[in-house]
Amino acid sequence: MNIIIHRGTHQIGGCATEYRTKNTRIFIDFGAELDSKNARPFDIEGITKGKTNCDAVFFTHYHGDHMGLLDTINKDIPLYMGVASKEIAQILNKRLSKSPHVKSYNVDRIDSILTFEVLKPIMIGDIKITPYMVDHSAYDAYMFKIEADGKVVLHTGDFRTHGFRGKGVKPTLEKNVGKVDVLVCEGTTLSRTEARCETEYELKNRIKPILEENKYVFVVCSSTNIDRLAGICSVIPIGKYCICDNYQLSVMEYVRKHAGHKSSLYRFSKAKYYRENLDEKMNGSGFCMFVRCGNPEHKKVMEMYKDKNPVVIYSMWKGYLEQDNIKRFLDGYKRLDMHTSGHADSDAIKMVTDITQPETVIPMHTEVPEAFEKLVGKDKLMILKDGEIYNLGV
Ligand SMILES: [Zn+2]
Ligand SMILES: [Zn+2]
Repeated sequence: MNIIIHRGTHQIGGCATEYRTKNTRIFIDFGAELDSKNARPFDIEGITKGKTNCDAVFFTHYHGDHMGLLDTINKDIPLYMGVASKEIAQILNKRLSKSPHVKSYNVDRIDSILTFEVLKPIMIGDIKITPYMVDHSAYDAYMFKIEADGKVVLHTGDFRTHGFRGKGVKPTLEKNVGKVDVLVCEGTTLSRTEARCETEYELKNRIKPILEENKYVFVVCSSTNIDRLAGICSVIPIGKYCICDNYQLSVMEYVRKHAGHKSSLYRFSKAKYYRENLDEKMNGSGFCMFVRCGNPEHKKVMEMYKDKNPVVIYSMWKGYLEQDNIKRFLDGYKRLDMHTSGHADSDAIKMVTDITQPETVIPMHTEVPEAFEKLVGKDKLMILKDGEIYNLGV
């Protein structure tokens, strides 16, 4: 089996990894680069051009840096994704497709995506792929075990262990994965110094008193960061409104339908969509409203409360604060930055390597692959270049 990381050996995002045997060729993810202004499309024979020579593309989750180049994949290549991941991608996509200024996917192409189930292996030619659900800032994200030519690889995709579902990662790996030959592991957070990330649980408990002490709170949060939305909803005081827009509510309603019966966290029972006849009640009782930077409707509501000391909780990656449209949107408001990463910290990476005991660790989704050395040792570390062929042998 060969592994080729087409992009992602020295950068965060833009992920695409090829696994191939003599007879079969699959890809894991086909993502866009995070710097959208300078993002480069892929130009790969048999995938994006020429006669198709690829048996399937599997997406770990719906983030754009993993599926953003979906529309450039030859139309006759089957695509696979988790059930909820596909649905949420489509709900988001349908909203984006209404805006002429934003890039969206072909709706039919998303509809055509095939779905897989947790722990149920899929055979594509002579490659066996088994999906394992993991904790991440995207709902319904997966690691894949890839088996072919007598070798076993674990491809982590984006994951973490400090979210609400983080505790499940270790037993999943112990019970179902065990020892592997090669670990292809994300290392997003390794460019930072702290070894341990704040948990979603701790973050939610830090947000709770802010919602209790401030009558009017706006929360800037990704509309598909389900666990963050759920955590914040769970600490909105009784008597205060939980407000979002119609689109955001449709995402929450989908998650409620999908998982509300399994966990009260995903019921979003208080959530209401904003409409003007709620103004008086919201003003009287107070509220927590989810908003998105750049949305003029959301800005209008924020402006209505500008003189009433509202608090804006910024609950996204702080790097986005450099962007002019976000700066403008938040200008003049009392802002509290309250966020935790969607990615594995050093402890989580160590835990995965301890359980899977790989002979070789290949870093990806990181700007500092060399930082893996202190976690896995020099002997196991294999830093590849984008496009380099790594041969596992037979
Ligand atoms: Zn990613
Ligand atoms: Zn992600």
